[in-house]
Amino acid sequence: MDGKTPDFYPEGALVAVLTTQPLDRALDYRAPEGGCFLGAFVEVPLGPRRVQGVVWGPGQGDYDLSKVRGVSRVLDTAPMRDEMRSFLERAAAYTLTPLPAMLRLATRAPGLGDPPSMRKVYRLGEGRPDRMTEARTRVLEAAADLGGLALTLGELAEAAGVTPSVVKGLLPSGAILEEESPRDSPFPLLDPDLPGKALTDDQAAAAEVLRAGQSAGRYGTVLLKGVTGSGKTEVYLEAVAACLRQGRQALVLLPEIALTAEFLTRVEARFGAKPAEWHSGATLTERRRVWKMVAEGQAQMVVGARSALFLPFQRLGLIVVDEEHDGSYKQEDGVLYNARDMAVLRASMLEAQVVLASATPSLESWANADAGKYRRLDLTARFGAAVMPEMRTLDMRDVALPADRWISPALARAVTVRVEKGEQALLFLNRRGYAPVTLCRACGQQVGCDHCDARMVEHRFLKRLVCHQCGETKPMPTACPSCAAEDRLAAVGPGVERLAEEAAALFPEARIAVLSSDLYGTARELKAQIETIAEGGADIIIGTQLVAKGHNFPLLTLVGVIDADLGLQGSDLRAAERTFQLMRQVAGRAGRTEKPGLALLQTYQPDHPVIRAILAGDEESFWRAEAEARRTAGMPPYGRLAGVILSSEDVQKVFDLGNHLARNDAALRRVGAEVFGPAPAPIARVRGRHRVRLLVKAPKGAALQGALADWAGQVRLKGDLRMAIDIDPQSFF
Ligand code: ADP
Ligand code: ZN
Repeated sequence: MDGKTPDFYPEGALVAVLTTQPLDRALDYRAPEGGCFLGAFVEVPLGPRRVQGVVWGPGQGDYDLSKVRGVSRVLDTAPMRDEMRSFLERAAAYTLTPLPAMLRLATRAPGLGDPPSMRKVYRLGEGRPDRMTEARTRVLEAAADLGGLALTLGELAEAAGVTPSVVKGLLPSGAILEEESPRDSPFPLLDPDLPGKALTDDQAAAAEVLRAGQSAGRYGTVLLKGVTGSGKTEVYLEAVAACLRQGRQALVLLPEIALTAEFLTRVEARFGAKPAEWHSGATLTERRRVWKMVAEGQAQMVVGARSALFLPFQRLGLIVVDEEHDGSYKQEDGVLYNARDMAVLRASMLEAQVVLASATPSLESWANADAGKYRRLDLTARFGAAVMPEMRTLDMRDVALPADRWISPALARAVTVRVEKGEQALLFLNRRGYAPVTLCRACGQQVGCDHCDARMVEHRFLKRLVCHQCGETKPMPTACPSCAAEDRLAAVGPGVERLAEEAAALFPEARIAVLSSDLYGTARELKAQIETIAEGGADIIIGTQLVAKGHNFPLLTLVGVIDADLGLQGSDLRAAERTFQLMRQVAGRAGRTEKPGLALLQTYQPDHPVIRAILAGDEESFWRAEAEARRTAGMPPYGRLAGVILSSEDVQKVFDLGNHLARNDAALRRVGAEVFGPAPAPIARVRGRHRVRLLVKAPKGAALQGALADWAGQVRLKGDLRMAIDIDPQSFF
């Protein structure tokens, strides 16, 4: 084991316990009977309640000693490691998050407080009781039905429809046996020495660098850049293999749960068993098992969503962030953190390696590689016969389409050709639902959300209107909510569901599948649909950005982008970067096997510099130009930003606070930072709360967090006023 042995506090010693309660500090308690280790997970009394916490260090001793209470009990879980405590402290300081909220991310393990790691289970034995009752017979029958399988007391009693005492009554005779069984079982061993695929020269060279980085046993970040299908996954699995050989644990972060199924299968093919899985779709039992086994070093590899970064790894040696540019690595509510950046922080504290994989890196990572902070590895060719698709624009200015049609004749012809050949075509539109706007033809009003300044989006599949901001839904009305006119509501603009309707009319013979996250009840259903499509279960795929995220559809040879201009409209700092990434990613779905791919981009601005850069495929020029523009403007990654969102139900109060903060900006000016605003946030009302935004801009090296803390600390938030500070904001809503 690495790290130093934890300090120990004997019974009665003062310890500081940090809980997940919103308090501004750790509280003093006395170590319980038997003492406790630094980092121990404990339960402590807090007011009338008992809460869980972690022994964070020696007590402060600044509280009336006669009133200090004792730790109630130490939980049956390995103590939190020093490294994890420091990581949480540094992550909290970076993101300006209170430490208790940070701790909550690291203790999202259901059943953490469950007493024993062993539990009693019950199964059928050989004996027979002297006296049989109807209830006892039912227990024995239920146990016999299980064929030797053991259940907990509660489970067996429920299966038999009896009380637990009936089951217990069968123990003395040996008719039912009671045994100890581990609550959570270790994960099957992964074998890093099973043969991997024979790598191409490019791939082998990249894999060698990662292996060397792994053996060095030092922190280092590698940007693994390669077009979709170039074998990045094959390459970083070699880094995983090297890490496992060292007896260290590996973490692979994926941006999308739906991607894990395919990935798990690949891991199984490579290492002979599936790794542990950590995401919101997993059951509580699975999550508890993963958390505990990760802590005990009994899970060698974890595949998961961003929150997996806060698992209690015992000896983490490698973190892979796949599709590192993906926006979903940024958590946008609660604790505002970027999992990619926190991965780098955590690895640097552990002497672990980070691999950031992407076909279209974020400008931040590109710039870090450019500056020599990250090592960059390029895979330039697609594996095998596959080549990058040809890309062309379709100039929509020349096309006269009816108002409710979005597929141009040229795109339709291309689709028909592919479908007739038995290949797949993807129509890409980054808009969920049926239509983005529902308009009343009588009064001209658009139907909006009652709680947000957002339009309600019609989801015809659900027969409801949905607010994409707050999630509020209501049945599709027949009368206008504004003027009450009956049957005058009209859908305006396209969403994927409406596009599917158009496609069905244009291509009556084709099998059409819509891939949009909201059409599937569960992650499992979505996975199943993706697998069906990959196996050829559809001719035309209609999808939102969900499809851009690394799914492998071997039969797909045509990508039609319905509205390539969509992402360019906002004033967002990252509009160009995002559009570039998304269009390249989507186009990259086509032609992943021998059959050549074609990407057609419908656009009204074929001469827009971003559209031209996408077509030219000259990525380095694009990054360089974009980097230069940001450098000149002092924008990230060449300057620093923090977004501050103030909210309240009272619009006056929230503007008053914003103005007060904007005027009293001395703390910010001291570090060379400027504050802009207040201005209404782009979405000025969410869930009934008015939102006002300030933007703080600082030079690159500025000690921004300290200045922000001082600045924000000048005001007391009274009533329902809230302030959220977003360091390195990704989007501006
Ligand atoms: P990326 O992660 O860059 O998108 P993948 O690693 O998924 O690329 O590779 C694309 C496809 O090519 C996968 O089906 C993968 O198994 C296959 N592939 C890549 N490299 C090799 C190789 N050296 N030998 C055999 N198959 C390979
Ligand atoms: Zn809403």
